[in-house]
Amino acid sequence: MPAFLYDQIQRRFPSPDKVFLETGDGRKLTYGELADGSARMAGALASLGVAPGDRVAVQVEKSPEALLLYLGCLRAGAIFLPLNTAYTPAEVSYFLSDAGASVFVCEPHRLDSLAPVATKSGVRHVETLGVAQDGTLVAKADASGPSFQDVERGPDDLAAILYTSGTTGRSKGAMLSHDNLYSNAATLVEVWRMTADDVLLHALPIYHTHGLFVATNTLLLAGGSMFFLPKLDPAELLRLMPRATCMMGVPTFYTRLLQRPELTRDLTAHMRLFVSGSAPLLAETHREWNARTGHAILERYGMTETNMNTSNPYVGDRVPGAVGLPLPGVSVQVTEPDTGTPLASNEIGMIEVKGPNVFKGYWNMPEKTASEFRNGFFITGDLGKIDEKGYVHIVGRGKDLVITGGFNVYPKEVEDVIDSLAGVFESAVIGLPHKDFGEGVTAVVVRTAGATIDEKSITAALEVQLAKFKQPKKIIFVDDLPRNTMGKVQKNVLRDTYKTLYA
Ligand code: AMP
Repeated sequence: MPAFLYDQIQRRFPSPDKVFLETGDGRKLTYGELADGSARMAGALASLGVAPGDRVAVQVEKSPEALLLYLGCLRAGAIFLPLNTAYTPAEVSYFLSDAGASVFVCEPHRLDSLAPVATKSGVRHVETLGVAQDGTLVAKADASGPSFQDVERGPDDLAAILYTSGTTGRSKGAMLSHDNLYSNAATLVEVWRMTADDVLLHALPIYHTHGLFVATNTLLLAGGSMFFLPKLDPAELLRLMPRATCMMGVPTFYTRLLQRPELTRDLTAHMRLFVSGSAPLLAETHREWNARTGHAILERYGMTETNMNTSNPYVGDRVPGAVGLPLPGVSVQVTEPDTGTPLASNEIGMIEVKGPNVFKGYWNMPEKTASEFRNGFFITGDLGKIDEKGYVHIVGRGKDLVITGGFNVYPKEVEDVIDSLAGVFESAVIGLPHKDFGEGVTAVVVRTAGATIDEKSITAALEVQLAKFKQPKKIIFVDDLPRNTMGKVQKNVLRDTYKTLYA
């Protein structure tokens, strides 16, 4: 049996001449070149002595060669371990040691700072791969032949380890099998109706599950093409949109594009699907996008550990503020967080998921893994509810829950009310240490451009809509909320910044 995931992709290859990707400056890579290039990368890894199950850690900028390396790892039987390009040498050192990586691939210009760290962490080979088709690994790939005998890997063998962004505690390595990735991508092809006619706008990073698996694997299984862009650049997305059919982005993509007057119904006429995920899409953004383009953004929900869990329907209601229905084959339940007892519709509790999409556990952390599962379900850490139509709604991460004077406050409920006020662009509600209440509900608010709404008017509006204990004790105004590259608001940063507010 060949390497399971790559084999599934290869079986669906369109003709070798078909374009797989085109970069912003017009460089094209065909499916034939993808097959050759990934074989060469696999050959290069084999020449380094990479054995089945070895971890190949990669911290490089987005490039076609980086994708070939991902596929090359699959074909060589290695476990692909992509790292956020923002990680510092000290952080990289942790991941390399924790994963016991045997090969580390970095940008040529970072070799001097990273090679000593890698060697100290026990890495056997340090190679480079740059965005200009340069680097030692690229040279080794060029020197390898375009045919490679793929290393046998079954559905349950590991294909990748992705470290969770881990805003609290240690970052954990999520082990994903060939079938975790294949089954989820195959499901998404089906539910999102991806075909070989699709042309995807790909401007997401490829060290994260969204850009690497949701976008790339799905597109590959459909045999489609993509514009492969280094990062979110609204002008570039708008330039290419008339030639594309779908886009997958984080909510920031949509808010940034909405700021551009060129975004019109005409410009998006060739598009059939806009997908959003990785962070909550404001209901307001959903409505504004619909009004401007005539397209209802399809919001979905997933995480590194589980791939995708739910999606709004392709045909049917795409509900603003909801993350949709469980994907086929995926079970989602909401439970009482402490006991795991399933709750009724519309009751808020812990979201738990089960299915072929759910990872194999955290690398080297069997106890942690065991504690995050109960009754076969993975405890996501997200709080939410399932409404009477079966749509899942997320109200926030469990760790973001505010407990004030013994009462639970779900930040999203308060944020939704604040966001609906004229003059408010968005908000983040957090709990800060408070000597009387344990935690004090606090709102951090971004005004819409030119608006002058102040603390007094927000407080007055909330008084009539929310129970007293849910009302923020203080409101802080900022120009922007801190976000990570996946568009997630970093509430831990806000909590840290304002930790002495009630001291
Ligand atoms: P990550 O592992 O980086 O993909 O982060 C996963 C987390 O992102 C989930 O546990 C959710 O908290 C959040 N997330 C992903 N998609 C959505 C969404 N559509 N709406 C709200 N939160 C989301």
